[in-house]
Amino acid sequence: MESSRTILTKIFTDYYLGAAQAKKDGKPIAYVTAFTPVEILRAMDITCLYPESYAVVCSASGKAGDMIGSSGMGQFAGDLCSYSLISLGMDHAERLPYGGLPEPDFMVATNNQCGTTLLWFRLWSQRKNIPLFMIDYPTGSENTDQNEYVYRQYLALIEFVKKQTGRDLDQRVLAQQAANSRAACKLWSQVHVLNQAALQIDAAKLANALFPIVAARGTPAVCRYCETLIHEHSRENENAVIAAQPSFRLLWHGYPLWFLPKRYPSFNDDRFQIVLNDYTLWWDLDYPAADTLESLIRPYTSTYLNWLPQRRIDWTEQLVRDYAIDGVILHANRSCRRALAHVIPLRDHLLRQGIPSIILESDMANPDYYSPEKMNSQLESFKESILAA
Ligand code: SF4
Repeated sequence: MESSRTILTKIFTDYYLGAAQAKKDGKPIAYVTAFTPVEILRAMDITCLYPESYAVVCSASGKAGDMIGSSGMGQFAGDLCSYSLISLGMDHAERLPYGGLPEPDFMVATNNQCGTTLLWFRLWSQRKNIPLFMIDYPTGSENTDQNEYVYRQYLALIEFVKKQTGRDLDQRVLAQQAANSRAACKLWSQVHVLNQAALQIDAAKLANALFPIVAARGTPAVCRYCETLIHEHSRENENAVIAAQPSFRLLWHGYPLWFLPKRYPSFNDDRFQIVLNDYTLWWDLDYPAADTLESLIRPYTSTYLNWLPQRRIDWTEQLVRDYAIDGVILHANRSCRRALAHVIPLRDHLLRQGIPSIILESDMANPDYYSPEKMNSQLESFKESILAA
């Protein structure tokens, strides 16, 4: 049986080499935002690339500073999302991981995670002089009118892609993609559940395991990858390497720190371990069973960052219960205004419930906003507050 590491490497290689090959073969390439209904594009035989995911790779490779400097937006670096800055820098920086992303033929941006993506992709498509299609997802609870509104935009997206490429939608491929995405998201959720009763999969490994569900959702390889992770870390597997159990189980709320080798700061004390980062669960998308164009409305309307702040707070509180969490570290990510909206109310809510919680300020991809000394000292006080609780 292949190891999860081997499958992950293959998914990475297929994604980057596949894109380079598509470019050579003259096949259409689209840059898409993280929660684009990519199943539609794949059913039209479009190669989809995720600049946000590539920004993570660049940050983890220590390239963020160079790329932000090359973005032409450096004077606004303190105000803009670092994923956007890194991406814009990709067009000018040198010695990029995987040689950079091939040039796209068009872009698709959605606002079901933030409004930044629309402005960033608009600026980028203008700079590249290529077409852009934007999808507007209403925030809040779903209703029939909203579904119709999103559905009509999906039909318009299909027309747009047809016009750009001359390709038609293959309903059979769409159904297969939707079914694969649904199965992969269920399995991805089960990977996390491993850590509910005991710490069985390291948080850094889970963060590094995110790429397939983000960038290759809809392909059968992602299901295989999740099944293998579950097998490798299951207590029923006599060869499983199960970590030493922490005395205090922590939840890291929000984005990891991608530039750190372990993705999260060290606690310098094995009694404290992160057993869950809710960010990786943002890709536990809720696909209904139908496998039709309509079935892609709910998962992409009901994304975590498109929920109203109170729903995000309720969900996090439920995770605290499900994962028997002793303390919550909330990452106030400078880059992401949408994610910041509920951080202080969430911290206050958790404290009222008697759950030790702390806000740490940093940035997911730009290490200039990370102060190890400050963070270590805040974490020391946090550990003391948990020990005293
Ligand atoms: S980090 Fe936040 S602001 Fe940046 S693209 Fe993601 S959701 Fe948008």
